[in-house]
Amino acid sequence: MAYTNSSMVAYTKLSSNHSGQRTHSIDRITPHCVVGQLSAESICSCFVSSSVQASCNYGIGTDGRVSLCVEEKNRSWCSSSNTNDQRAVTIECASDKAEPYGMNSTVYANLIKLCTDICRRNGKSKLLWFADKNKTLNYAPKSDEMVITVHRWFANKSCPGDWLYARLSDLAFKVTAALGSTTDTPSADTSVLYRVRKTWADSKSQKGAYKILANAKKCADENAGYSVFDESGKTIYASASGLSPYMVRVAIADLNIRRGPGTNYAKTGQFTGVGNFTIMEESAGQGASKWGRLKSGAGWISLDYCNRV
Ligand SMILES: [Zn+2]
Repeated sequence: MAYTNSSMVAYTKLSSNHSGQRTHSIDRITPHCVVGQLSAESICSCFVSSSVQASCNYGIGTDGRVSLCVEEKNRSWCSSSNTNDQRAVTIECASDKAEPYGMNSTVYANLIKLCTDICRRNGKSKLLWFADKNKTLNYAPKSDEMVITVHRWFANKSCPGDWLYARLSDLAFKVTAALGSTTDTPSADTSVLYRVRKTWADSKSQKGAYKILANAKKCADENAGYSVFDESGKTIYASASGLSPYMVRVAIADLNIRRGPGTNYAKTGQFTGVGNFTIMEESAGQGASKWGRLKSGAGWISLDYCNRV
């Protein structure tokens, strides 16, 4: 397929910071936060000097206008990954200067339009977002699929910032809908993304962002010292802070497993059986001096029937 450029482009100032023609066809889009509420022109001017050693294919200025810095046919220097940039169209979006690197609604609306246009011209009918680095980088897109990747997977930085990261599912959904396709990935309700980090302020420590709380808890359990935060930064789960998982011995065969820490929670109908079990979290609760949450995810048991081993 012949490479073209977007007709949305309102300003062109080509940068010489690129590697020439791509060695891989386009099947990724990597949106970035440019760290500043810059105009379309200013985004291009960031990449004019050869000493900068950086560029992007497109910029979206703070008023939503689109600029072209590196033609789509060429590999830009944008995402700290040769492999990624060979196959990705890179887009620098006007953003605030600090986390969460917020973007205004015009920039976001035009990012949706530009991604739709890029997909359409490159023969794609779906834009996919997996929210998972390994899954994405190991995924072989079908011929009509475009996949979103993010700079933070390739370098120790927050880019595209938490504001846009939280909307990538929404972006993929809206672009796919505009292309006339449907997708299995539902539009994310951005108010319910659960983030796993060491602390809320330390966004670079983020292990993942999950729509399902249980998955976020599991991730926190697997990473000592990590907690789960809601969209506002409130800690909603902190199993690993203050408590290292430990092993207990259960000597009775019929110790009930309950859905929560207390006899006021329903029995799951399962018993631990005799054996050794790993406790991930402790809690006070009715009917026992202390309750422990099983690593298996099966539920909670009374620690009165356990001996630490
Ligand atoms: Zn970036």
